[in-house]
Amino acid sequence: MFSGLVARRAGATPLKTFQPSTLPHVLRSSAVRGLATAAEPYDVVVIGGGPGGYVAAIKAAQLGLKTACVEKRGSLGGTCLNVGCIPSKAMLNNSHLYHQAAHDFKGRGIEVGSLSLNLATMLKAKDSSVSQLTKGIEGLFKKNKVDYVKGAGSFASPTSVSVKLNEGGETQLEAKNIIIATGSEVTPFPGIEIDEEQIVSSTGALSLQKVPEKMIVIGGGVIGLEMGSVWSRLGSKVTVVEFLGAIGGAGMDGEIGKSFQRTLEKQGLKFKLGTKVVGAEKKDGKVVLNVEGAKDGKKDSLDADVVLVAIGRRPVTSGLNLEAIGVEVDNRGRIIVDDQYNTTCKGIKCIGDATFGPMLAHKAEEEGIAAVEIIVKGHGHVNYQAIPSVVYTHPEVAWVGKNEEELKADGVEYKVGKFPFMANSRAKTNQDSEGVVKFLVEKSTDRVLGVHIIGPNAGEMIASATLAIEYQASAEDIARTCHAHPTLSEAFKEAAMASYDKAIHF
Ligand SMILES: Cc1cc2nc3c(=O)[nH]c(=O)nc-3n(C[C@H](O)[C@H](O)[C@H](O)COP(=O)(O)OP(=O)(O)OC[C@H]3O[C@@H](n4cnc5c(N)ncnc54)[C@H](O)[C@@H]3O)c2cc1C
Repeated sequence: MFSGLVARRAGATPLKTFQPSTLPHVLRSSAVRGLATAAEPYDVVVIGGGPGGYVAAIKAAQLGLKTACVEKRGSLGGTCLNVGCIPSKAMLNNSHLYHQAAHDFKGRGIEVGSLSLNLATMLKAKDSSVSQLTKGIEGLFKKNKVDYVKGAGSFASPTSVSVKLNEGGETQLEAKNIIIATGSEVTPFPGIEIDEEQIVSSTGALSLQKVPEKMIVIGGGVIGLEMGSVWSRLGSKVTVVEFLGAIGGAGMDGEIGKSFQRTLEKQGLKFKLGTKVVGAEKKDGKVVLNVEGAKDGKKDSLDADVVLVAIGRRPVTSGLNLEAIGVEVDNRGRIIVDDQYNTTCKGIKCIGDATFGPMLAHKAEEEGIAAVEIIVKGHGHVNYQAIPSVVYTHPEVAWVGKNEEELKADGVEYKVGKFPFMANSRAKTNQDSEGVVKFLVEKSTDRVLGVHIIGPNAGEMIASATLAIEYQASAEDIARTCHAHPTLSEAFKEAAMASYDKAIHF
């Protein structure tokens, strides 16, 4: 047995005797180094190897802490790399290219002979991106000397994590600090059972083996709209059923949301807003969805070959044995933390989707770094006013800061500056000029309070807006910054100009 990890007998689980050849590679090298013993515990053990957890682990190791990361999935990267951000973007990118080839190339003077979809190859390309990236994180763990422990972690005490190893047996990691980064999972729809074939979650929707003739998406939030777009581009007739009266989910500016809906409708998606799903049944190879008006209760039914349930995600906390160590959760199941990510149990922090705030990979990453810096230096930095959101449809929608509805509710006096992409030379040249950049600035100071973009490359452009909010820039600061010509970012500069003075090209 290696001194690096203290194996113990737990209940009926046989004591695991580690041999170098049976240990995962990363763990093996660290075990040989004998990094942590009960007498000499880890400085940090991170539970969960998603964007929050793996970034925290790497940062901790970079700052000289003896670090282990426990992940049960069998691959690193969490929801984001395995079944979230990355595979969805692979499908969005490639379905967009297919759609362009089918509907857009001709007008650009590009004539392709017969065009056909090879879905199996498209799915393979997605899987290959995922596996390259998840293996890349294993490489980063090796480079930074993070011990990667493959298994499910739970608290044996506030300073020790019991791990049921994926390859069998159990081990225990002693730690001075523990960071919970167990992320989130699909929120089930009461009464509708997900089989990942006909009734799917986002995970199943990333791997459909056949383009469904008809698809219903329950939920008009970001994930539903992205996956709905993918299958619509590949030929499916997609209807989005949303309980609320608008799409896009929390944070999206109302005006941008309406224009986004019109754009998606032009692309062929149908929307049933203000509609409540009450049940689903499988009948003659189809799924029949029973719905009723959210306000008038009027009953209706819809049928589809595949139904995607995309009503949100919930924190993963079960199986961690939190009750035993006094880590509390709120009424939404999120682990309660203070402003230093401390849970209600001393020495244990929580970051990412498992706790408060937007469920976004980059938010989890920021928190991972901040939590570790707080452990080492006593302070860290995450600006929750400057966390961008992006919907990776085409055109993309991106925003950061406050939207108009929030400013009105807060009684803030603000000015609006807009610039449409149809007046931007690069967008016109690219024949891709749908959308607008919208600035919201404080009336008295001209400080940028929010930026909302629908348009090509909005997801890249929002980085400038985030920087502006982070550094409390004024619209004039941006407008007086030289932007290269011809670029889409000139629309960003001109919208800033429009919010404190006048745009030149519109
Ligand atoms: C389809 C889809 C698309 C998305 N697209 C985007 C996007 O474009 N941009 C974006 O910012 N966000 C996106 N997200 C959200 C993003 O994936 C999450 O916000 C992000 O992954 C959260 O990171 P995390 O580290 O907190 O948790 P997770 O990524 O969920 O990782 C947690 C990890 O902990 C592991 N774990 C849980 N319990 C235990 C345990 N007891 N022991 C050991 N391991 C455990 C899990 O296996 C998991 O791998 C998307 C999500 C989905 C589903």
